[in-house]
Amino acid sequence: MTPFTYTCPETVAEALRAYAAGPNTQFIGGGTNLLDLMKMGTEQPAHIVDVNKLPLKKIEEHAGGLRIGALVSNTEAANHTLVRSRYPVLSEAILAGATQQLRNKATMGGNLLQRTRCYYFYDPTFRECNKRDPGSGCAAIQGYNRIHAILGASDECIATNPSDMCVALMALDATVQVTGPKGERAIAMRDFHRLPGNTPELDTNLQPGELITAVDLPAIPYGRRSTYIKVRDRNSYAFALVSVATVLDAGEDGTIRKVHIALGGVAHKPWRATTAEKTLAGRKADAGTLRAAAEAELQAAKGYRDNAFKIELAKRCIVRGVLSTLNVA
Ligand code: SF4
Repeated sequence: MTPFTYTCPETVAEALRAYAAGPNTQFIGGGTNLLDLMKMGTEQPAHIVDVNKLPLKKIEEHAGGLRIGALVSNTEAANHTLVRSRYPVLSEAILAGATQQLRNKATMGGNLLQRTRCYYFYDPTFRECNKRDPGSGCAAIQGYNRIHAILGASDECIATNPSDMCVALMALDATVQVTGPKGERAIAMRDFHRLPGNTPELDTNLQPGELITAVDLPAIPYGRRSTYIKVRDRNSYAFALVSVATVLDAGEDGTIRKVHIALGGVAHKPWRATTAEKTLAGRKADAGTLRAAAEAELQAAKGYRDNAFKIELAKRCIVRGVLSTLNVA
């Protein structure tokens, strides 16, 4: 491992100053992703700023919704009474991810920043990876690409975002609060992560030195009516091949007033299925309508050698997600 300096500030202002003190600095929270990457040599920070002493560990009511501090652990968030009662899809998504031990250490902020699990990115013995080494190529496009993207990919990167939690946050229209050298700002979840384009080395729209301080969930009167479905190669401790978070408001006759659908495992960011949502709004969720909405959403999907099955799988996840959610009281 490459040597690095270590600082553990107690205020956000000190953390920002410590970050700005030198180049190649990383914040660390639970460390469940960064330490793996450092052991592999994929990440080699010169300075580490440990944020664990910052006062960012509360879950509190905020503007009719909830504010979850960036250092709240994934376990605490998933088990919190207000999260479980108002936003059960977030609790389900978090509990579908990783293991209990990892969820105990992983934080809200860290989960938002976890990096792709593309095999070629993780292992520096593979020379070609535009995300790790811009301009070097993409080994996955011609390689083993079972877990890779079918939507929004580019010729430079076909990696997927691995988070379950972020799929639920996308469906819930969450907002990420950040603070940095230029002050505080709020980033809508839809704008937080990026598609790869020709800058696959950038996963998010955070600016250098910006620190996540909280995640805000808006008031959603029908937020209880939701589901998270995750399809994976084994039943625990595996990343999603495809997942779907669904939140909806419907009449007693099954007419959908409003539906939020987000897909995981299909793109470089959690994928908000806006085409399917528009197709379904104001209509009865019968089999034909649901299938048409799913077909429309996946119309632009592109499969590679090992992952073309995800296109049909994602369509079925959309249909099943909406039907399952209609059955939630
Ligand atoms: Fe690297 Fe992205 Fe290609 Fe994976 S898919 S090898 S992360 S450039």
